Amino acid sequence: MTPRRGSKVRQNHPEVVVVGAGVAGLTAAAILAQNGAKVQVLERHTLPGGCASFYLRAGYRFDVGATLVSGFGPRGVHRQLAARLGLEFNAAAVEPAMDVHVGGDRISRFGDERWKIERLRAFGPSAEPFWDAQERIADIAWDFSTRFPALPADAAGVLAFARAVRARQLLLVGTIGKTVASILPAAANAKLRAFVDAQLLITAQADAASTDLAYGATALDIAREGTFHLPLGVSEIAVALARAVRRAGGEIAYGTAAQTFVLERRRVCGVRLADGTELRAPEIIAAVPVANVADMLGAADGPLRERVAVLPQRWGAFMAYAGLPAGIVPDGCALHHQIVFDECAPLGEGNTAFLSFSAAGEAQRARGGGRAVTISTHTDVAGWERAFAAGTYEERKAVYARRLRAALERIVPGAWDRADVLDTATPHTFAAYTGRARGLVGGVPQTPATANLRALSHHSGIAGLTLCGDSVFPGQSTVGASLSGVAAATAVDARRR
Ligand SMILES: Cc1cc2nc3c(=O)[nH]c(=O)nc-3n(C[C@H](O)[C@H](O)[C@H](O)COP(=O)(O)OP(=O)(O)OC[C@H]3O[C@@H](n4cnc5c(N)ncnc54)[C@H](O)[C@@H]3O)c2cc1C
Repeated sequence: MTPRRGSKVRQNHPEVVVVGAGVAGLTAAAILAQNGAKVQVLERHTLPGGCASFYLRAGYRFDVGATLVSGFGPRGVHRQLAARLGLEFNAAAVEPAMDVHVGGDRISRFGDERWKIERLRAFGPSAEPFWDAQERIADIAWDFSTRFPALPADAAGVLAFARAVRARQLLLVGTIGKTVASILPAAANAKLRAFVDAQLLITAQADAASTDLAYGATALDIAREGTFHLPLGVSEIAVALARAVRRAGGEIAYGTAAQTFVLERRRVCGVRLADGTELRAPEIIAAVPVANVADMLGAADGPLRERVAVLPQRWGAFMAYAGLPAGIVPDGCALHHQIVFDECAPLGEGNTAFLSFSAAGEAQRARGGGRAVTISTHTDVAGWERAFAAGTYEERKAVYARRLRAALERIVPGAWDRADVLDTATPHTFAAYTGRARGLVGGVPQTPATANLRALSHHSGIAGLTLCGDSVFPGQSTVGASLSGVAAATAVDARRR
């Protein structure tokens, strides 16, 4: 298509169309544009970032979803991308990564040698074999994932994959089919179980009994791998990547949704936009959840829809955003907190909550010396769909807001009533702002049946269509999304050259 007057699509005859300007799509687009491809990104929202975006309200800048920053350590993907794309981030290490409030205790998730002292204090010596095993598996998995960050697509890929394996990494074979629970001590008390479950919930979208062992051991390691603070919040990553796309000659059309894929002779050769026009390109990258991809393929798709239908996805997020005036948050309050109210009750639905505060004195995050706070809890999207159908949606929102109020008050008593901004968001809000099917977020729960080699790959199985995003390998988080974007760009580049 030649862009029409008034069209937001500016790239003439693009070589690559990327659907979605979340972290995954922008990573792929920035790399391809830097490598000389004519790239056109389509983004339905007016801002980049998707689940790692931001919004401004009354002098506060809130991260909409993701708040915890990783990937800026020595082997971190964001750090490597920054060097490759010439981006600058002022990423400061955060210690502890977070405080976890569980079983009447406050456990600081240090990334350095203090963690061993802290975990001995909190869980005792009987838990040490668990932590030692977790760290051993994680060390090998990190090493392997940096050597071979994408799933193989064909025989040549499998051969390269096999060549990349080192003897030590064969130890990972022993983890196949196992869950994190398999290495927990049989006599683990409720505090240790709840701690591990809660940490896995935010990093693997499943509890210890369901989380794949190699994935879970790595997910439990993020504090050791390094967590960071960006002065403007997580959204700095997407904003910087969007800048890199444009600087390299790529185009981003905001407010422009792709509705369906155009298929010819079993090849995806373009996308159809809301106004009916077709944007054609030899390569299309779908940087949206696979459930959305299946919808966009419609009847043309068979296998992908079948795989999506059996994915164990149910989590959405209920959020509260609080703008707190100066003087409310005590000095020395950790920037991130996870709360488990009742360690014997199911996780999510307000029984667990994650809170993130902007740092003190960040004028661009909060006016007048205040703090921007994002609070979230996992919630089953089906409950919201039922409430919507039954007309009890607003009531349900009020109930969940009270639960997140209790979470904020646990950390900063009296804060909720003194907030000068209070917003909430449900899975419906995420569906509206990010277009994610049913408002499902956080990618696919990482079970032995869905993680690592059994994850969906960036190869869609349909010519012309490459996938990336948090529902394909390696999974959720800005790091996972970026890694999938790198894999997609690498695959497309190999075909272009
Ligand atoms: C509440 C919450 C808390 C989280 N916390 C953390 C955290 O602390 N740390 C962390 O690392 N990760 C966290 N995550 C996960 C992380 O945010 C995501 O895994 C990651 O940002 C996903 O990026 P993505 O590019 O795959 O998808 P998305 O962010 O969903 O981006 C997809 C983009 O595509 C656009 N789009 C969708 N459909 C179309 C269409 N048809 N046409 C054009 N554009 C379209 C959307 O508007 C969106 O911008 C959290 C997520 C949530 C929801």
